Amino acid sequence: MKYVGAHVSAAGGVENAPVRADEIGAKAFALFTKNQRQWEGPPLSDENIEGFKKNCEELGYSMDHVMPHDSYLINLGHPEKDKLQKSRDAFLDEMQRCEQLGIKLLNFHPGSHLKKHSPKECLKTIADSINWTLDKTKGVTAVIENTAGQGTNMGFKFEQLAEIIDMVDDKNRVGVCVDTCHAFAAGYDISTEDGFDATFKEFEETVGFEYLKGMHLNDSKKELGSRVDRHDSIGEGLIGLKAFQLLMQDERFDDIPMILETPNTENWPEEIRMLYDMTGN
Ligand SMILES: [Zn+2]
Ligand SMILES: [Zn+2]
Repeated sequence: MKYVGAHVSAAGGVENAPVRADEIGAKAFALFTKNQRQWEGPPLSDENIEGFKKNCEELGYSMDHVMPHDSYLINLGHPEKDKLQKSRDAFLDEMQRCEQLGIKLLNFHPGSHLKKHSPKECLKTIADSINWTLDKTKGVTAVIENTAGQGTNMGFKFEQLAEIIDMVDDKNRVGVCVDTCHAFAAGYDISTEDGFDATFKEFEETVGFEYLKGMHLNDSKKELGSRVDRHDSIGEGLIGLKAFQLLMQDERFDDIPMILETPNTENWPEEIRMLYDMTGN
């Protein structure tokens, strides 16, 4: 079964996120558990935590299908020691928020080398950051997202994701999320059936589907291999509908959160319905 949803707003408290997901017909959702543009956020209150758990339960959301995204400020591959520590502390706080909420997945962009250390050192730093955080937490999986490879962002090649996973000690608490827009911008041509098959064959051989914990469903405004990250509504960008039809009919993507991060949020109910229609069920 497919679990399609969107990255919904948690304005007014995380407990509102499942309510908003339900309103748009989502069977999965993503959220920020704190303001994504600030380093620090107020701790979650008992009201937030109880409200979130109660709403998820009442509205039928399993914690297998809730996948928050961390703050955009965090760089777990930072080349400078003090700034790296600031990122690690913030990431640990995000993980602890997930623990408090009973959430099992935390999605994040791996990190950037900022031209101050090598890509290889950056990947090692990211893996060390994951190990550092997993040591201090329980029950939450660190879900590395593939990137478009914009600037000095790492993780745009499946090999890089695999390299990070290789260096993580607890393989049971590390996974990946594949963003379709990022994959396309990084040069994986999923817009045709042959390209789609080749991409996920490569994914299986380098990373492995056992590590796939979620998907981000976005079309792309920018060309194949452009290394520029600009999301578009499903079917309106350069990826086109075919890739999403293939995804929705492919059992390898069953039972994981499939999250829309498309720009026209008013379209989400329609996009979710369209994606479910593609399953043919
Ligand atoms: Zn994404
Ligand atoms: Zn993106």
